[in-house]
Amino acid sequence: MLERIVEKNFGKSLKECTNQEIYQGLMEMVKEMAEKRVRKEPEKKKLYYISAEFLIGRLMINNLINLGIYDEIKQLLETNKKSLSEIEELEIEPSLGNGGLGRLAACFLDSIASLGLQGDGIGLNYHYGLFKQEFVDNQQTEERNPWMEESSWLIKRDTSYLIPCREFTMKSQLYDIAVTGYGNRVNHLHLFDIDSIDESIVKEGISFDKENIRKNLTLFLYPDDSDKNGELLRIYQQYFMVCNAAQLILEECRERGCCLHDLFEYAVVQINDTHPTLIIPELIYRLNQEGIAFEEAIDIVSKTCVYTNHTILAEALEKWPLSYLKKVVPHLVPIIKLLDEKAHDKYKDPRTRIIDSRGKVHMAHIDIHYCYSVNGVAHLHTEILKTNELEAFYRIYPEKFNNKTNGITFRRWLLSCNEPLTDFIHEKIGDGYLKNACELSKLMNYHSNTAALEELLAIKQKSKTALKKYLLRMQNIELNDQSIFDIQIKRLHEYKRQQMNALYIIYKYLEIKKGNLPKRPITIIFGAKAAPAYILAKDIIHLILCLQELIQQDKAVSPYLQVVMVENYNVTLAEKLIPACDVSEQISLASKEASGTGNMKLMLNGAVTLGTLDGANVEIAQLVGMENIYIFGESSDTVIRHYQKKDYVSRQFYENDGKIRELVDFITGKELMAVGQQENLLRLQKELIEKDWFMTLLDLSEYIEAKEQVFADYENRKSWARKMLVNISKAGYFSSDRTIGEYNDEIWKLPSVI
Ligand SMILES: *Cc1c(COP(=O)(O)O)cnc(C)c1O
Repeated sequence: MLERIVEKNFGKSLKECTNQEIYQGLMEMVKEMAEKRVRKEPEKKKLYYISAEFLIGRLMINNLINLGIYDEIKQLLETNKKSLSEIEELEIEPSLGNGGLGRLAACFLDSIASLGLQGDGIGLNYHYGLFKQEFVDNQQTEERNPWMEESSWLIKRDTSYLIPCREFTMKSQLYDIAVTGYGNRVNHLHLFDIDSIDESIVKEGISFDKENIRKNLTLFLYPDDSDKNGELLRIYQQYFMVCNAAQLILEECRERGCCLHDLFEYAVVQINDTHPTLIIPELIYRLNQEGIAFEEAIDIVSKTCVYTNHTILAEALEKWPLSYLKKVVPHLVPIIKLLDEKAHDKYKDPRTRIIDSRGKVHMAHIDIHYCYSVNGVAHLHTEILKTNELEAFYRIYPEKFNNKTNGITFRRWLLSCNEPLTDFIHEKIGDGYLKNACELSKLMNYHSNTAALEELLAIKQKSKTALKKYLLRMQNIELNDQSIFDIQIKRLHEYKRQQMNALYIIYKYLEIKKGNLPKRPITIIFGAKAAPAYILAKDIIHLILCLQELIQQDKAVSPYLQVVMVENYNVTLAEKLIPACDVSEQISLASKEASGTGNMKLMLNGAVTLGTLDGANVEIAQLVGMENIYIFGESSDTVIRHYQKKDYVSRQFYENDGKIRELVDFITGKELMAVGQQENLLRLQKELIEKDWFMTLLDLSEYIEAKEQVFADYENRKSWARKMLVNISKAGYFSSDRTIGEYNDEIWKLPSVI
């Protein structure tokens, strides 16, 4: 088929084609094969997974694997002197997501299709996605991140809807991306856009005219909302997404025989975080327009929608001023008021109001009152929701609350990113784990098998060398592949505490200066984007980049310690970094990381976790046992109590512990001031001493101690390899197939058709 396609398009044989031509040929072939697999006779009930983010990553290799033609294509290309991995490099990753939440949505789409469930994703077709990160003078800068090329995975459809806003009506355009399941059905990711988008309005960096909605609506994911126009644009985006979704859902359900009074038998709408919340009033509005009374419409919609909460950070729970909603979607305002009054009549607790006394609409509160299921994303997170953050709601609706611990798709995070490890597993336990991930635990049979453990170490070494080559070629970074790779890759946020890792680096730097050399060189690798308006996050990036420069220039230290911050951390880079990781840094302040999924990817690839008892780390620790993970820091209970009593005073740690003071003071010492900006370094140091909202100094001493233990234990290579093996063996629980199976059994209840 591939040969036929390139012959038709370019009049050449495979051997004569350029990589670009083969890439286009492969894309056409995959799209054609995928369309053929779309079911012609739909089932009655269908899932609609609505999300502002789908961080899908490159799709070529994943699609070849899921369509079952990866080996064949690779062979065919090799026979023609072509390299599939070189061809893969031509694909630009669409950055339609921010981090964990968006990547989760992508893993879920893969599992939904792989389990044979009828379920499509619905989102927006951002032209520039999340910004592209570049480092200039040890600072993050943001550039646009175009990804749509002439040949892309997007399939333009005939579908378009009218989207009525107060001041104008927009006409949407639907694009689809095929979601191939592993040896199973094909679903779709529906991405809505408008034709009038004008990419030329983007000026320097990522700034643009925020008021011209018809030109800017789908330019960027999460445009800066630190001013009123930014907030309005986000409301426009959210409404555009859900108004399209509502029309698509109602149209499709009708086609399947729904009479709208029974909508909940035909559709389940999964609301991923609060961004799609307006789907609730929008569906109620549309049902009412079709002649269904409000009371019944509310009831129908409440039986159709379900909500996933992703964070307990108060500042991340969206609240829009009612006056802004009036400006954009006045027709929904009476419905939101009605929803608020109805809930308030029944439940007097003011903490559960949808519209608060200052006229702000709490999006999560709409979800919790008017969805039939509310879930958290890891055991600890769900418990904290019930006992703290959403306690008032849990009292009213105990039956709605449930946990669905996140997962990751092994197709991407093992098969396509780590071939050597995949081959090892297949050789040892066969491929049954691909359908039933818990079979990975069969690897435990090799617990005392020296040859297998040595193989595992050799595989890790191979991945480290591959990463070294990749970073040298792509980012001109030279790693020492004989060093320990300690990796922290995730969005930059104070609660994730990259700053604590930076303070460890200062500690180690000073130790080496004193002559206390580590047994083996250490490489500490970061990958992280900071939100453009998040000043402290950018200060932390600045600190890390300054440390990178300082240490690189210091010939007494650089043979023993290297700091590397990779530019523009994204899915593509994650796929290179994760197989090469020895130590997985999961050091958030306990209670703040809802789940984490990076922790799962790293574990699956044989990294050992250094972490706090937070998010899914708790479940990882239970699965692998305390001998196979490094846990430190205060418990979530203690941390929550500190917040309640407001009794954490970072200055006390700074003043009472000379060791800590030395590290914090180093931030503004002469060494770093010589390579960095005084303003940034002073601000960050002041923050750590005077506020430190995420309690870095509270856990710092224990962190340093635990990390030293990790590096010491690394020297016993056999016992370390055993830890790696246990981590891989126990990762089966974190397959997103397991997670999606639970969503379906307990919430969606779709028939599974294999
Ligand atoms: C998995 C993933 C994340 C989430 O990482 P966490 O450590 O769970 O925050 C973020 N970004 C990318 C590119 C990912 O692949």
